[in-house]
Amino acid sequence: MSTEAQIAYRNELIAAGLLHATDVDGLYAQSGAFEEIIMRFNALVTRTGAVDGPEVLRFPPGMPRGTLERSGYLRSFPQLAGTIHSFAGGDVEHAALIAALERGDDWTGGQKATGIAFTPAACYPSYTIVAKRGPLPADGALLDVQSWCFRHEPSLDPARLQLFRMREHVRVGTPQQVLEFRERWLKRGRAIMESMGVPLDIDVANDPFFGRAGRMLAANQRDQALKFELLVPITSTEKPTACLSFNYHQDHLGQAFGLRLADGTVAHTACVGFGLERIVLALLRHHGFDPKAWPDSVRHALWT
Ligand code: ATP
Ligand code: ZN
Repeated sequence: MSTEAQIAYRNELIAAGLLHATDVDGLYAQSGAFEEIIMRFNALVTRTGAVDGPEVLRFPPGMPRGTLERSGYLRSFPQLAGTIHSFAGGDVEHAALIAALERGDDWTGGQKATGIAFTPAACYPSYTIVAKRGPLPADGALLDVQSWCFRHEPSLDPARLQLFRMREHVRVGTPQQVLEFRERWLKRGRAIMESMGVPLDIDVANDPFFGRAGRMLAANQRDQALKFELLVPITSTEKPTACLSFNYHQDHLGQAFGLRLADGTVAHTACVGFGLERIVLALLRHHGFDPKAWPDSVRHALWT
């Protein structure tokens, strides 16, 4: 359920021309000003991570369906996943499609699943790519990735989109390597967001696992402190919004994707994810809709 404050902020953003609403909740066009902030923030993340020399991968919004199947996402979050379907019939089916369209009926029944699924988290397609290369070198793998992501969670909260951009850094290696990486990015993520001049808090968190079994998974994730979130108040101080996530997957994704260390054992993985739209929404909320009037320190951090 969206709150009044969320709907009010959404209306302000639309009135200011920063977002353009569509007929679908959580699906927007973004303005040039919005995009400029995303690009500037992205460049700041790049500068921060560049010292480690990550390999850069930029993904389209879709990935092979097999990657979704292997990832375990359908077991944990069937309610959020999306697949791309397309027409696959002949003349008869085409005529039926046109007739249904003209009657205003549902025309989608004949659509068949393609080999492409929407990407739910920017790091997933990178594991397939790394696994294909065979056992990892001694220093593991370090990636700087970005993807449009789809999650089926329609909402009037402007910070809860169905299609949004996730920037991540991803580490594959020994437990020690990936935990060191997560510690480093916990500090860097905090420093980046402090330089953005927004109030923030870092807290242990859990994913919205589906169903009754999911409650146990969520409790376990919290107990083991596998996920942290950097939270910034956007439309509520009591319920601040997760703008960054720091995830330690242990060997789950290593098992799922066949990621191996040089000695043949299963690799561990961790990622830090920046929700780019949420970060822009936090900046606009705290510093106003005109970036030229933002505090000098924030402008300096972004426009250097
Ligand atoms: P994992 O790899 O374990 O699935 P992840 O870090 O890739 O985790 P999340 O932690 O679920 O995925 O999401 C990462 C970030 O993406 C969040 O911190 C948030 O900023 C952003 N995000 C998630 N869902 C949405 C959404 N519906 N709309 C906008 N941004 C979102
Ligand atoms: Zn990730």
